[in-house]
Amino acid sequence: MTVASPIVSHAAVPAARLTDSHGRVIHDLRVSVTDRCNYKCVYCRTGELGAQFPELGIDEYLRLIKLFVGLGIEKVRLTGGEPLLRRGLTELVEELARLRTHSGNPLDLALTTNGHLLDTLAAPLKAAGLNRVTVSMDAVDAPTFERITRVPGSFKKVVAGVRAARAAGLTPLKINCVLLRGFNDNEIEGFARFAREEDVIVRFIEFMPLEEGRLWTPEIVVPLAEIVGRIGRSMPLVPMPPREASETARRYTFEDGVGEIGIIAPVTQAFCGACSRVRLTSDGKIRTCLFSQVEHDLYGHMRAGESDAELRDYIARTVQGKEARHHIGEPGFLKPSRSMVHIGG
Ligand code: SAM
Repeated sequence: MTVASPIVSHAAVPAARLTDSHGRVIHDLRVSVTDRCNYKCVYCRTGELGAQFPELGIDEYLRLIKLFVGLGIEKVRLTGGEPLLRRGLTELVEELARLRTHSGNPLDLALTTNGHLLDTLAAPLKAAGLNRVTVSMDAVDAPTFERITRVPGSFKKVVAGVRAARAAGLTPLKINCVLLRGFNDNEIEGFARFAREEDVIVRFIEFMPLEEGRLWTPEIVVPLAEIVGRIGRSMPLVPMPPREASETARRYTFEDGVGEIGIIAPVTQAFCGACSRVRLTSDGKIRTCLFSQVEHDLYGHMRAGESDAELRDYIARTVQGKEARHHIGEPGFLKPSRSMVHIGG
């Protein structure tokens, strides 16, 4: 193991659980390990901007994540940018897999990726201790897919990545699809078939105002009710019960019980009341909501030489101030200063 730093040990230091002033317990951390991306998805990026924020060292992410785990975080999702571009990712996963939660269990370790490099990285990541991956795919038709990613040959690569992830046992395997009206909403039924054929869970996500450009309008969002209605006309859907209160997806199976689709509806059916998440950006800032107007410079405090106890105290105080909810679609809504790719989706 090459990344362990002298400041990191694996014993989580139990402390009070992370809560916010609205009574929510925070047990889910999303960490961006780079804001570089090898795709330029048209609804996410303008195509003119590259990476905008620095990356921390792998040992620095490890130290910060460990502080959160000491405060009761149970699930860590690595994301970006495109996390598979990040050197040292497998070593980071290996170290994270050694950590234990307050209850003594390993972390639930997940990764969100565009899947482009997963064909070669799925097996090493699984061996390092990764539990699950979510692959983003916005079409199941190759030309449409490549019009969205703006990368020729990307569809074939991602399908190979999905199959490699399944073969490696990174399951249940989820595919996330952001739907935009008039753009890829004709893919809905194709995705429902894909879920059954490829034995993956497809989750449709409502488009949020987090793009680099200015594309978002309420009309471009394909709402949950419409997605359910459209699939149901050709393949009747059966609702599945939620597994936990903070589950973001409304889940459905088909009449024969084969396959699962989910719909994440942050715009039309916001789930902020059950939110259990905080985010750490690639440059070490805490974001308590995707739509936060302020960021909290945890890395700055670390660089200033604060002790683990001081840093945990800073995290706990910051999380207390987590926003009650987002205000998408309301008068006066302000887009955050960072877009999704630079926050970590
Ligand atoms: N590169 C990785 C990937 O493609 O999964 C991780 C980062 S990407 C920003 C994470 C997820 O955010 C992707 O599923 C992407 O489709 C989604 N996303 C990007 N912009 C979005 C938006 N404005 N609304 C909803 N989801 C968005």
